[in-house]
Amino acid sequence: MSRPRILVTNDDGIRAAGLAALAEALAASGAEVTVVAPDREQSAASHAMTIRSPLRIAQVGAGWYAVEGTPTDCVNLGVFHLLGEPPALVVSGINAGYNLGEDVTYSGTVAGALEGRILGIPSIAVSSTADATDRTLRSAARVAARLAERVIERGLPADSLLNVNVPPDARGLRLTHQGRRDFRQGLIERRDPKGREYYWIGLAPSEWEPDPGADHAAVGEGIVSVTPLHSDMTCHRAIPVLAEWALEDVMADEDPR
Ligand code: MN
Repeated sequence: MSRPRILVTNDDGIRAAGLAALAEALAASGAEVTVVAPDREQSAASHAMTIRSPLRIAQVGAGWYAVEGTPTDCVNLGVFHLLGEPPALVVSGINAGYNLGEDVTYSGTVAGALEGRILGIPSIAVSSTADATDRTLRSAARVAARLAERVIERGLPADSLLNVNVPPDARGLRLTHQGRRDFRQGLIERRDPKGREYYWIGLAPSEWEPDPGADHAAVGEGIVSVTPLHSDMTCHRAIPVLAEWALEDVMADEDPR
C-alpha cells in the first residue's frame, strides 16, 4: 500500500511546537506529510478566508510551507496547489490551548479541519493544554497519529470532522459532545494610565454547565475527548418548531414586482 498523504495545518503559526510534534508523529506512522501553515499566529481567526489581498507561499523546508494567511487559506493552497491532488486526510494542530464547547466556533484550528471537510477530505482538529510540555505534545501527537490511521482506514460519516482534545498524561479516550459555558461574567474592564476605559473580551473566567458527556468533562478527568462536529450547520431540531410558525406569511403582502 502506498503511503497516505496528509496535509497538516494549524492556527498557532509555522513555528509552533505543536505543529512540529504533529507532523513528526504522522510521518513516523508512515504518512507522507505536507505542512502548510500560517506564517504567524492566527488563533481565533475562525473560518476566515483572505479575499482582499493576494496569498503568498514561502517554502521553509522539505514539505513545509508558510502562508501569509489563515488556516482556511492554507488548506485551500495545500489541496488545490501544493499537493496537486486531494490528501487522504487534513490534520490541524496541535493547538496550544483546548478547543472545548463554544471555542470551536472561534477556533482557527477547528476551522482548518472544517475547511478540509468542506473540500471533501476527512479531517481532524487536535488541541492540548496551553502550557503543554514537549512530552505532552509528543503524547498528543501520537494519539493524533493513531486516530489518523483509523480515520484513513474507515473514513468519517458525511459532513463530519473530529475535534480532539488531549490533556497531559491522558489515561483513556471518550467519545463526547460539545459542552456549553456560562458566559455571564462577560468582559474584563480596565483603565489605561490616562483614565480611559478599555476592555478584554473572551478572557473573563467562565464556568462549564455540568454535563458528564461533554468534551470539557472528559478533559477535566484527564481523558482524551473526541467530538464529531458537523459542517452542515442546519439546526434540524428547530425545523419542526419553526414549521409551526407559518413563516410563509411574512411574504403574504410582498409584491414580487
Ligand atoms: Mn491557536
